[in-house]
Amino acid sequence: MGADGLENVRKDAVMVPRWVRGRESLELLLPQPQSLPMLGLGMSVGTPPNGIEADLLVVDSFVELERRSAEAQGKIVLFNVPYRGYGPTVAYRVNGPSQAAAAGAVAVLIRSVGPEGMRTPHTGMLIYRDGVPRIPAAAIAVEDAARLARMTARGQRVRLRLAMDATLHPDVESANVIAEIRGRERPDEIVVVSGHFDSWDVGAGATDDAGGAIAAWEVARMLTSLQLRPRRTIRVVLFTNEENGLRGAIDYRDRYAATLGQHVLMIESDAGVFAPVGFGFTGNDIGRSQVTAIASLLASTGATRIAASGGGADIGPISTLGKVPMMAYSGDSTKYFTIHHTPADTVDRIEPQEVSKAAASLAAMIYVVADMPQALPK
Ligand SMILES: [Zn+2]
Repeated sequence: MGADGLENVRKDAVMVPRWVRGRESLELLLPQPQSLPMLGLGMSVGTPPNGIEADLLVVDSFVELERRSAEAQGKIVLFNVPYRGYGPTVAYRVNGPSQAAAAGAVAVLIRSVGPEGMRTPHTGMLIYRDGVPRIPAAAIAVEDAARLARMTARGQRVRLRLAMDATLHPDVESANVIAEIRGRERPDEIVVVSGHFDSWDVGAGATDDAGGAIAAWEVARMLTSLQLRPRRTIRVVLFTNEENGLRGAIDYRDRYAATLGQHVLMIESDAGVFAPVGFGFTGNDIGRSQVTAIASLLASTGATRIAASGGGADIGPISTLGKVPMMAYSGDSTKYFTIHHTPADTVDRIEPQEVSKAAASLAAMIYVVADMPQALPK
């Protein structure tokens, strides 16, 4: 960032959780032996060294778990929940482990949260509820979840052994990475463009969220090389620990609490850098009409649509405290949710042309908002 000519390049140190996956496996024992692809969920506890062996109970919702809770005792519970968009389905990954533990389950499997796959499990974070035993939890591929559900539906006994070494270690130091283009007239008014540079351990994190982070950085590099210095300051923030704790977001919110009132807009780019679609916007109606007018200039990249709401996991808590309008950059989300949090999140799936269009769309939006005579209304 320094070499690119960006200003005030710095790291804000942040302590983050250190969860280590270790070795892990899932064996189908009955009706016939087979190893199943699986990924432990982030922040899960491990199993005893020889694993946990138990029969399987398959449910398709929290409602069915409640209805059949007497059957869950001592079982491994599988949430075989079809994908209906990330928001509604991810609740089973985040809260399913404690829901099942409350019913007496000894371990949890979830059908991977994604629209389609090639027998690819998706990891992601869980959150344990206080007062409920912490049981190991893993994701399995969509195909295997459906198959295990068919087996139990026809009355077959399904028995599994889940083994996970997962451990949570003491916090370690990481950092948010920040750089700026200082505003030429109102440097204290800040427009943030952001992504997160942590990723899950199993892939390369190319889509979630290296591409998004690089596009945010590229905004500032591009404007600097074009010698465009807007009225207000543009601040690039690459958050740490988005995936398993949001500690980077919380640190930024608290460290810059006194100046959040001067944050004009925050954009997060954490939806991949596939073919641009537009932006989501959360703010008032006047602001919406202004960003809609700006997006109408972006027909050449395709980023013309302003969706009803938009933000990001990192900027959410900051925007709430500072009442800052939020935006999300959005591209082809099916591609994103097919590979994110999987071993398939690798750089070969990213098209350089689409990254360029993502960065160009972000740069135009950010530059105009940072340079308008009147600040975007709050
Ligand atoms: Zn992400």
